[in-house]
Amino acid sequence: MLALLPAQPWARNWQDVAAELDTSAELGLSRDEVLSRRDRYGTNCLAQAKPKSAWGILLHQFRSLIIALLAVAALVSFFSHAVVEGVAVLIVIVINTAIGFFTEIRAVRSMEALRDLGTVPATVRRHGQLQQITAEEVVPGDILVLEAGQVLSADARIVSASRLQADESTLTGESDPVAKHEPPVAVGTPLAERTSMLYRGTALNRGSGEAVVTAVGLATELGQVSEMIAEAEQDATPLEERLDALGQRLVWITLVIAAAIIALGLMQGRAVLLMIETGLALAVATIPEGLPIVATTALARGMWRMARRNALISRLSAVETLGATSVVCTDKTGTLTENRMTVRRVVTAEGDYSVTGGAFETDGSFVRDGVAIEAAGDPLLRQTLMLGALCNTAGLHDGPQGRVSGAVGDPLEVALLVAAARAELEKPHLLEHYPLVRQEPFDPDLKMMATYHGDGRRVLVAVKGAPERVLSRCEHVLTAEGEVPLDDDARRSWMSRNEELGREGLRMVAAAQKYVDDPEEPPYEGLALVALIGLQDPPRQEVTEALRLARMAGVRVIMMTGDQATTAQQVAKAVGLVQEHDTAPITGTDLPPAEEWSAEDKGRLLGTSIFARVSPRQKLDLIGLHQQRDSIVAMTGDGVNDAPALEKADIGVAMGLRGTQVAKEAADMILLDDSFNTIIYAIEQGRVIFRNIRRFVLYLLSCNVAEIMTVTLASVVDAPLPILPLQILFLNLVTDVFPALALGVGEGEPGIMRRPPRDPHEPILARRHWIDIVIFGFTITVGVLGALGLSMFWLRLPEHEAITVSFLTLAVAQLWHVFNLRDPNSNWWRNDIVGNKYIWGAIALCGGLLVMALKLPVLANVLDLVNPGTMGLLVALGMSLLPLVVGQLVILPLKRWRLSSPQAEKPQQSSATPITPQDGVQEEADGDFDTRRSPRTNCRT
Ligand code: ADP
Ligand code: MG
Repeated sequence: MLALLPAQPWARNWQDVAAELDTSAELGLSRDEVLSRRDRYGTNCLAQAKPKSAWGILLHQFRSLIIALLAVAALVSFFSHAVVEGVAVLIVIVINTAIGFFTEIRAVRSMEALRDLGTVPATVRRHGQLQQITAEEVVPGDILVLEAGQVLSADARIVSASRLQADESTLTGESDPVAKHEPPVAVGTPLAERTSMLYRGTALNRGSGEAVVTAVGLATELGQVSEMIAEAEQDATPLEERLDALGQRLVWITLVIAAAIIALGLMQGRAVLLMIETGLALAVATIPEGLPIVATTALARGMWRMARRNALISRLSAVETLGATSVVCTDKTGTLTENRMTVRRVVTAEGDYSVTGGAFETDGSFVRDGVAIEAAGDPLLRQTLMLGALCNTAGLHDGPQGRVSGAVGDPLEVALLVAAARAELEKPHLLEHYPLVRQEPFDPDLKMMATYHGDGRRVLVAVKGAPERVLSRCEHVLTAEGEVPLDDDARRSWMSRNEELGREGLRMVAAAQKYVDDPEEPPYEGLALVALIGLQDPPRQEVTEALRLARMAGVRVIMMTGDQATTAQQVAKAVGLVQEHDTAPITGTDLPPAEEWSAEDKGRLLGTSIFARVSPRQKLDLIGLHQQRDSIVAMTGDGVNDAPALEKADIGVAMGLRGTQVAKEAADMILLDDSFNTIIYAIEQGRVIFRNIRRFVLYLLSCNVAEIMTVTLASVVDAPLPILPLQILFLNLVTDVFPALALGVGEGEPGIMRRPPRDPHEPILARRHWIDIVIFGFTITVGVLGALGLSMFWLRLPEHEAITVSFLTLAVAQLWHVFNLRDPNSNWWRNDIVGNKYIWGAIALCGGLLVMALKLPVLANVLDLVNPGTMGLLVALGMSLLPLVVGQLVILPLKRWRLSSPQAEKPQQSSATPITPQDGVQEEADGDFDTRRSPRTNCRT
């Protein structure tokens, strides 16, 4: 039962609304109150996107051409009184449907589970403390702490707002952001103009503030229209579309071949019924019906594997693109570094201080000239720490013994709070003396933020930000004697001090202040510099290895950071992104606008690996530049302003921990651990998945081609049909599927990261793959016809026995054939196919099915199998090994030789990817990842 919620909160004072909701803006709700409200108002959920029903998935299996063909086959059988065969065909339909159904439902359910993993966070104030909770836990009366980049998790009445702006297009369709303020509006104001309210599902793109939750779940405006929000149906991915297109093409080829075979057979005077059935069976055989199922399974498996390693894919097609990624643009803080910051240095006009102590320890000390000092006795140091704590949106939770048990907010700001706490300057106490009047949130373009505090007489403006930006707004510098003017020389010497500290890898901010009378005065004018603060943010250890892997894989990594050049370069060196002699970083502020880039500029930009002080706009332009060179670009981002770049990049990567909701929604992939390594892992998995898909397509098609060739050749030479219609169905719809599924879920081998990225334009099957299909298909055919010939002319077996031999040869040869799909450069007995336990499982299963087909009277009867005797079985076994032996001893070595011979064109690296793989140059082009940009063949799929 829903309890009452405040009516028309937009038209009333927020105090009234809060009072009616029995909550306080300063303290928020108590723990008990939260629980009782969750009971009363329910969890904050909208109508869930419905999971696909099992019935729907089952019906989906029947909507296919194969089933139609099989149904025709069954009808033909019944009409010609071949009841047993008709029933058999029906059974085949059932089995095939069952396999399809169970595979698809598994894949679908696991993708649905993945979708549920993406929870949305919300920051609230409860019992006086800031808390991160999930959106579902928000209850009416909660005080939301708002920040640009959030997506609202409930409807709320604004309590305070500082330059708050919301993008309400999801609700109102209006794409211009709306400014939000605290004062109430008229009762009759339409939704789009209620500036005192914020609504669930809309995004904050600027400013900060607080608001009291007035409605959750279905009671929100969004909840009330949520039945209108169509279930977001995943579109078919390009890959699935291409597989579909491939299927369509094969259908026509098949029908022509089937018709030809029927015609030929009739001309030779074979039984009409047999020929129609053979034609139909071949048609069924060639249509790659297994493809979509296996593809879905391969994608779902891959996505799960990625999710377990902290990469959440939000768009299925991203998987495919990931594998072709050739450029990764990454930011620095938190991705290459740990984002666990500690204040290490403070530089004021009076001296240079080092700070000791760990990230969350408040008992560190301040050292000046090798001597530990009391911060309280040093006014400038004290002032610096105070500004750092005031000009700050983070919060600490106190823990025992001088430790901090937890923190909310930007790690840089948390570090400043911890440093201040070491000098007994606690933010809550400071705020009692210097209450917050107004705040100017951190602006990623300006790279500064400011807070205004009344101190009884005047208003103190506390500013912190990127040193060169702050310095350019300072007219004075604070010394022990008070403010003195800042001349150009002094400015330069501060700047060079700043760069020196940056070269130590410290992340630098400057603190400045001024006093004003009117809190509405602009913040960044006529400031007095107080100090430079250097923060340490240790590089992530594991990144070095990932960068090595990326280099080997021909994936170019570019750092794009808002930080200053010296710091960026030092971190890049520390993790091994650049070497000593590499080109210097380019600073965004020195860059002309993109429209003015000359050819020479572009060359320089393409060759640079570190961009410092880049603006979100410049990120967009740089991505565009790389994309023009045919690169597939992945780009990381966390802020609201990164959203356009995330959308423009082929793979937008949002940070799960520190990223804003807006960035996450714009992204194709979310890194749950924010780690660079996860990107490289995802690229590897993208490659593995694509390769798996290509492999099972190759496998299924070569098996099918073998079947068609066998029947066609036998028809041409007027031999008995080596495989009968039902046998063809049995092979295709039962036994082929399992090895293909096993190939689809292969885990990949290390060699996959020793090759350059795949050409994004290349179809799933390039010409060389079609050649492979025909060659392998032909080898299998030779084995099968050979077995038929041997049993007829050497063993002199009767026709039925001979056909059993040729059927078994084909069936077993197809099983062995999976081993031919290994990478030609791999070892024949140790590769990822031999190492794939599912492959062995599939072989065992299919082997068992074949034994059953032979031994089980019912099945043997239907499939027309008779015991061919020991010799017959030996012939079948021997001839079935032919394609494997020829494949391993002749075809694969030949492929390897062709790929590594000096005549082979070298892989074309676009100028955008000047890095060539260092290790494994021999292995750069295997059957799957041949980088020779083959001319667009007419077999584009
Ligand atoms: P990054 O790419 O490292 O995430 P940012 O754009 O976050 O870079 O930061 C750029 C610069 O802005 C930093 O070098 C720092 O000087 C300054 N800065 C970052 N965060 C804050 C903040 N919360 N308050 C003030 N200045 C900041
Ligand atoms: Mg940042």
